Amino acid sequence: MHRRSFLKGASLAAFTATATTAQTPPQSLRIAYGGIAIECSTYSRLLTRLDEFTILRGEELTASPRFKFLKRYPTTFMPTLVASAVPGGPVERKTYDTIKAEFLKRLEALMPLHGLYLPMHGAMFVEGMQDAEADWYQAARKVVGPDCLISASYDLHGNISQTIIDNIDMMSAFRTAPHIDREETMLRATDMLMHCLREKIRPTLMWAPVPVLMPGERSSTEWEPGKRLWAQLPALNRESGVLDVSMLVGYVWADEPRSTASVVVTGTAPANQRKVATNLAQQYWDARKQFQFGTETCTVDECVQRAMAAKTQPAILADSGDNPTGGGNGDQATVLESLLRHKAQHVVFAGITDRPATEACYKAGVGARIPLSIGATLDPKASKPVKAEAVVKHLLADAKPARREAVVEIQGITLVLSAYRRPYHDIKDFTRFGLDPKSFKIIVVKSGYLSPELAPIANPSLMALSDGSINQDIVHLPPNRYRRPSYPFVDNLTFTPKVYPSARNR
Ligand SMILES: [Zn+2]
Repeated sequence: MHRRSFLKGASLAAFTATATTAQTPPQSLRIAYGGIAIECSTYSRLLTRLDEFTILRGEELTASPRFKFLKRYPTTFMPTLVASAVPGGPVERKTYDTIKAEFLKRLEALMPLHGLYLPMHGAMFVEGMQDAEADWYQAARKVVGPDCLISASYDLHGNISQTIIDNIDMMSAFRTAPHIDREETMLRATDMLMHCLREKIRPTLMWAPVPVLMPGERSSTEWEPGKRLWAQLPALNRESGVLDVSMLVGYVWADEPRSTASVVVTGTAPANQRKVATNLAQQYWDARKQFQFGTETCTVDECVQRAMAAKTQPAILADSGDNPTGGGNGDQATVLESLLRHKAQHVVFAGITDRPATEACYKAGVGARIPLSIGATLDPKASKPVKAEAVVKHLLADAKPARREAVVEIQGITLVLSAYRRPYHDIKDFTRFGLDPKSFKIIVVKSGYLSPELAPIANPSLMALSDGSINQDIVHLPPNRYRRPSYPFVDNLTFTPKVYPSARNR
């Protein structure tokens, strides 16, 4: 959706009905922004600590390309901090408390405020806490007071709860997976905030939870039923008094009461918002059995055999259970073991997180042949390492030890090792080592659905249903302790959509 089409698409008549006569000049508005964004699997034993967060503060935040879009407004958006990390295990409690305390201190220093924009993800899990985003919103609300309008932008895989809805005034979530509408979504959230502040509108939030939990790999918006379900959202935004319609898949690898799909409608016309939310929630429920993987799936061994037998290339094999962009550890060598056992050739594998192996490569230098133990360094209980002789081919120059990456050659397999958890989902992630991914017969990545850059070159695309912190075989995950009954965990549920308003507008 184009950035300005939200205002064209929404019903201006409904806005003016609730607006007071005089507009607020944008230059006089005081708006702050800041937040925290991470997706956490509760099935991972790795704690996400402070050094894994990238924290942009104050002027660094203003200068960051991610928030450049805020300069288009006549109002100065005042920075607090934005903390973000690669998806992973639960956030260490001390880390969360430290980041939250700094955010609140920076927010307090900017008071009084008319508005607050929170760029969030929505699937954070903090050690010993349920509903972490709700805690963040409650704390922010306490600082800014009841009159300040709060707008949040969200990932499509975020989880919602009544406490979340009760503490914010408006929100907008991604409408694409893979997520190619990040900036449009943030703009919808800030456009809506600016509009409501200028027109003195106090919108209402309504939400409808849907007891369905799907992995993102089954609910992409690139194929059915996700494609048609999310394609309706821009048109539904044109319903009278509707400012934003968000439909969220939720995050399945978090055993929390709030983990579920949901529809959230921001607007000024409760009856219409209820109608839209009810209709979409029912459609999502009705489609629950149609959600499917968008690519061929198989066991690790089957995928390796199919990739080797393929007449076309490059076959891209996605190691889905250990995908760091979904919360996987990224340190598992299961697919490498299978490739070696099957004697696969002309393979590029990017990559495995293994700091000791990466350091051994830097110590030995390019050209050296060294014995390596690869994998299972972050969680030795979750998988086994592979022992092999490797020739060091390339070392990333000038990298700090914690950010180092090395390329090694093991029996026809070109393997990228990394000292830290990171994905290799873009072409430049390969070319910066001088590797042309298209020249290999097999590309192995730790990924779920393929990224927009890798998907077009996959020939064929194979998704290995591998073990890991985000195992796609969700019905066989360890037993739920907190999650409410939902499909497909419970097959015989009945459902009638129910819409819950925000306590802010009761
Ligand atoms: Zn997502």
